[in-house]
Amino acid sequence: MSRVRVQLRVLGQDIHADIPRPAPVVRLDAVLPLLRQLDDQAIDLAVDRATAERRERVTCAKGCSACCRAQPVPVTPVEAYALARLVEALPEPRRSEVRARFNANVAALEAAGLLEHFLARPRPVQPDEARLAARQYFALGLVCPFLTNDACGIYAERPFVCRQYLVTSPVEDCSNPFDRPVRVVPMPIRFAHAMLETSEAFLGEPQVTIPLATALLYVERHRDELERTFPSERLFRTALEQVAAG
Ligand code: SF4
Repeated sequence: MSRVRVQLRVLGQDIHADIPRPAPVVRLDAVLPLLRQLDDQAIDLAVDRATAERRERVTCAKGCSACCRAQPVPVTPVEAYALARLVEALPEPRRSEVRARFNANVAALEAAGLLEHFLARPRPVQPDEARLAARQYFALGLVCPFLTNDACGIYAERPFVCRQYLVTSPVEDCSNPFDRPVRVVPMPIRFAHAMLETSEAFLGEPQVTIPLATALLYVERHRDELERTFPSERLFRTALEQVAAG
């Protein structure tokens, strides 16, 4: 089978991706495996830089899951679709368990009056409103449906924001990020942003991130849009242009 190989210069070094050549026509989520390969290498370089230049150390460690326990965890609609497909492919009873966790989180957001705030299509939101909603969301303590025994149950396929959120401040601050802001490793490429820009270019609709907890519901509402297909060559080229733009 022929393959697609990509090379990119990031922080003075080359990173590579290598995937099987996609079909001529694909959905938007077909670019995720390529972008994840590039993202993982860019993250390694960013961590090396933080360590070498600023003497910073990543304090995230296996078993520390504070950020999976209350944060809104913003995912792009395309990633939400990939997560919905992943859940659909889970064996039972795991599939029903994960779905039940998603449903419980959605019910909690609805009861708190926050669901439509986070799921509404792009609309102007004042910074104060966004901050308040984020605080209210955090206070609900919604645990990510994929968190299992304090570890990510979908590690290889976790969203860009989960990959890129590497903290260098004391771990205690992660439980109270509004009052004690955490420091994170600066990333050279915003892959979630590149995915949003790519989606917008193809779907012709403004795209924004949504909390991971609402991913299945979002896909239920927008499945037709997320299942549209496009020429793969144009899609991959656009996505890589967005990545190269940083
Ligand atoms: S997908 Fe994984 S890393 Fe991301 S919030 Fe959920 S459990 Fe945590």
